[in-house]
Formats: sequence, structure tokens, C-alpha cells
Amino acid sequence: MQIVSTIAEVRTAVRALHTEKGSVGFVPTMGALHAGHRSLVQIARARCGAVVASIFVNPTQFGPKEDFSRYPRTFAEDCAALQAEQVDLLFAPEVATMYPADASTVVRVEGLRDRLDGASRPGHFDGVATVVAKLFHIVQPDAAFFGQKDAAQVAVLRRMVRDLNLPVEMILCPTVREADGLAMSSRNRYLSPEERRQALVLWRALQVAEALVKNGEQQSARLLDALRSVFASEPTARIDYLAVVDADTLLPVEDVRAGALLAVAAYVGSTRLIDNLILPSSA
Ligand code: AMP
Repeated sequence: MQIVSTIAEVRTAVRALHTEKGSVGFVPTMGALHAGHRSLVQIARARCGAVVASIFVNPTQFGPKEDFSRYPRTFAEDCAALQAEQVDLLFAPEVATMYPADASTVVRVEGLRDRLDGASRPGHFDGVATVVAKLFHIVQPDAAFFGQKDAAQVAVLRRMVRDLNLPVEMILCPTVREADGLAMSSRNRYLSPEERRQALVLWRALQVAEALVKNGEQQSARLLDALRSVFASEPTARIDYLAVVDADTLLPVEDVRAGALLAVAAYVGSTRLIDNLILPSSA
């Protein structure tokens, strides 16, 4: 695996990969890699001739009071994991490489930018859209791989790709979970053992929702009431948002329909966790 940190090096290396191996798949990450990231690489590996990954903790997607400075950085382990997954090229730029001091262009996906996580984290999706647009222009992949766990992010990025006519196929990959159901996340390592146990309330709520819908529940309002009761059983977990939305527009839907997205964000201690489920068809 070649590791590069400048844009010129990426361009040269990707040109060679295109010639030697054909299609290029791209997996952007913020590092602190886990099995969820690795599954994205495996899916990219299966679909593309070459795989490029990036590790960049993007400052513009963190709010001023968020965890940018303490976000886990485990570069040596990450390199070993990507090497083991046969990644061809890793792009790990410095902040100054991605954002020159006078950088003044921002990609804003209007409408979607302030829904779900965008409502709780103002400006977050502008940072995500801007960095991913830049990474797409730098790497110029044929396809890019994103996790279902960040469903709102995927909706924002799909819209951006469509609106800006970016020639990148967007591939959505399933959420990878711990054995007990907790969605894998780089932020899980912030949890104390007791918080780790409490964090399972997100998974319990999603399972209750799935069972209720399979048993015929069609009203989002009633479903959400039931899920708030599940959260009440774990009073240390605080709901940030809990919503049934259209997976493309992120707008609330009143009737539970096949394909609607149940999305949740909750604080466990000071750690904010997200998870979601594409709801099954009603009975
Ligand atoms: P991050 O490093 O958190 O920015 O995530 C990089 C990519 O990995 C994003 O596309 C995430 O959606 C994806 N990802 C994170 N956690 C998981 C997971 N548990 N399962 C599948 N994909 C994930």
C-alpha cells in the first residue's frame, strides 16, 4: 500500500492505478478504523480494480464545542488494517493541504443541510459536503463507498453528486454492528463500560420499531411514542432526534412506508451516537 499526503502524489498514483487496474473505488474515512470501515473497503475491493482510502479528520465538520481535538487518531493501526485489506493507496493529508489559509469555497446542500444531524450540528453537513467534493476532485474515483450508519450524510452527498454532476457512483454499504447490536463507531471508544451497556438502548429501540412495523403499525407518531418509552427505560440516554423520514429528502413521513428511514441520535453521557433502520414493509 502506497501512503501519500500531497494532492500531486494522489493524482500521479491514481493515474497509474487507472491504467494498471481499471476502475478505482474510494473509501473516505476519518480514521480510528473498525470493522465497519473495513467492510466498506472489502465491498470496494470486490467491485473495483483498485481501492483508494483516505484518512482525514476534517475540522470543518466539527462544531466549535465538539470533539475535533480529542477525536481518536490511531494512524499506525489504521495503516496496518488498510494494508491487510489490500488497499492500493492511502491519502492522509494535513489540514493545510486540504484547506489553504484563504480557502473560501463551501458546498452547501440547501434543505438537506439542516435536517437531522444538520439541525443538531449546525454547519456539519456543509463541512462534510465540502470535504467530500474536494476529495472526489482530488481522487477522481469511479465509485465511492459510504456506510448506511450515516444515512443522513449519504442523503446529503447523493444530492450533492447529482446536483454537481460529479461522475462518481455512490455505493451504500450495510451498517456493521458489534455482536450485541451496537453500531460500530469510532466514538464508541469514548464510552465507559457502564455507558457502553446503556448505549444498547439505540439498538433495542430499532428492534422494537421493526417488530411493531412488522406487526402492522403504520403511524409514525405512534411508533415514535413507543420508542420514546424504550428510551425512558434508560434514563441516562438522552434523545437528540428520533424521526421517521424519507431517506432521500430527510423530511418526516406520517405513515410508515416501505423504504422510510427510522433515524435516531442520542447522547449517552457526553457521547453522541447515531443509528438508523430502513423500516420493513407493514404487515
Ligand atoms: P467516519 O470515519 O466515521 O467518517 O466513517 C467513514 C465511513 O465509514 C462513512 O461512510 C461511514 O458511514 C462508514 N461507517 C462508519 N461506521 C460504520 C459501520 N458501523 N458500518 C458501516 N459503515 C460505517
